[in-house]
Amino acid sequence: MVGSTLYPTYNRANLEFERGNGVWLETTDGRRFLDCGSGIAVNSLGHGHPALVEALKTQAEKLWHVSNVYTIPGQDTFSRKLTEATFADRVFFTNSGAEALECAIKTARRYFYSKGEPERIDIITFEGAFHGRTLATIAAGGQAKYLEGFGPKAPGFVQVPFGDREALLAAISDTTAGLLIEPIQGEGGVRSVPTETLRDLRKICDDNGILLLLDEVQTGVGRTGKLFAHEWAGITPDIMAIAKGIGGGFPVGACLATEEVASGMQPGTHGTTYGGNPLAMAVGNAVLDVVLADGFLEGVRDKGLLLTQKLSGVIDRHPEIFEDLRGKGLLLGLKCRVPNGALLERFRAEGVLAIGAGDNVLRILPPLTITAEEIEEAVVRIEKAAIAMEAELKQGAAE
Ligand code: PLP
Repeated sequence: MVGSTLYPTYNRANLEFERGNGVWLETTDGRRFLDCGSGIAVNSLGHGHPALVEALKTQAEKLWHVSNVYTIPGQDTFSRKLTEATFADRVFFTNSGAEALECAIKTARRYFYSKGEPERIDIITFEGAFHGRTLATIAAGGQAKYLEGFGPKAPGFVQVPFGDREALLAAISDTTAGLLIEPIQGEGGVRSVPTETLRDLRKICDDNGILLLLDEVQTGVGRTGKLFAHEWAGITPDIMAIAKGIGGGFPVGACLATEEVASGMQPGTHGTTYGGNPLAMAVGNAVLDVVLADGFLEGVRDKGLLLTQKLSGVIDRHPEIFEDLRGKGLLLGLKCRVPNGALLERFRAEGVLAIGAGDNVLRILPPLTITAEEIEEAVVRIEKAAIAMEAELKQGAAE
């Protein structure tokens, strides 16, 4: 076999998918997998959703790209829908989550700059965070494994332990611009920020005249059963980064902000060649229409409860394999007692795809369109994988 010419940045599984339909993925050699990973929380409406295929095809036949020097009608429609459904008044479209975060960070700094407080540049983040792989977002995430070897960490990011209120208060200074947090840490191991803590963070920001920035790249667009996860806490941020699920598989991200906070971002302060291009807007609009349709989010909440209940049963029956279940809606994490990578292999052997996360967790994030029957099927397969793992442990102990 000819060696790969790709950067060796990924330890890729030897699985080649050729087509997908709903929650099912099929490999080039004809094996079928129940996709409980959704391309890491991206395929919010599953694979090949007719409304998305139609939206992309129709737009592809009309126009692909013109650049942001022109008016792009799809951006106006889409941003209006997003602002009507959220706290935000202004939207900047990007191609990815990290770019949405870059825009969020720039928006926060520029807000204070335009108010005559240019020294307020620091963003406080939380241990275990993941905000992307650009130089600024690895500094925001603060994880040594992603920073190592890439030169000096970008300045302006201060990190405090997850859930440590005293450390947070001590970190706020007259150079602080805001706090940046994921309502549920995804990569960090599906660690939820309690709703009362989110409310407290909002209050801390208000009391200190700083901004609350939310990273809803993974938690947003219905994943937790609300359009955005912060809605569970009844609070609103000043700035929010979204991506992943909003494109359903097409690269789309966005930074949302209030009118006041976005007011620093004047012409020429920020830009993107591709962000908000007509193809991306056609798909994003179609995703949002489906997610905002009557009953859709309620359905996600019901399915989240069903999956939680079924997986909790599996955990109870296999305490040597699983420790607990975390998360909300269809963003769930199985905390494992065995190495999560080994268990992921067992899942795959049973035809189920999941996604690893920090803290020895396996993420279960099926498309929001999964049916109750498919949930049953997924849980049966997950239990089979747990049984296979138990047998392996017993055999290992006997040897
Ligand atoms: N923020 C969160 C919470 C994420 O989960 C991710 C990606 O996994 C990102 C930001 C970065 O998004 P992207 O990979 O699209 O740049």
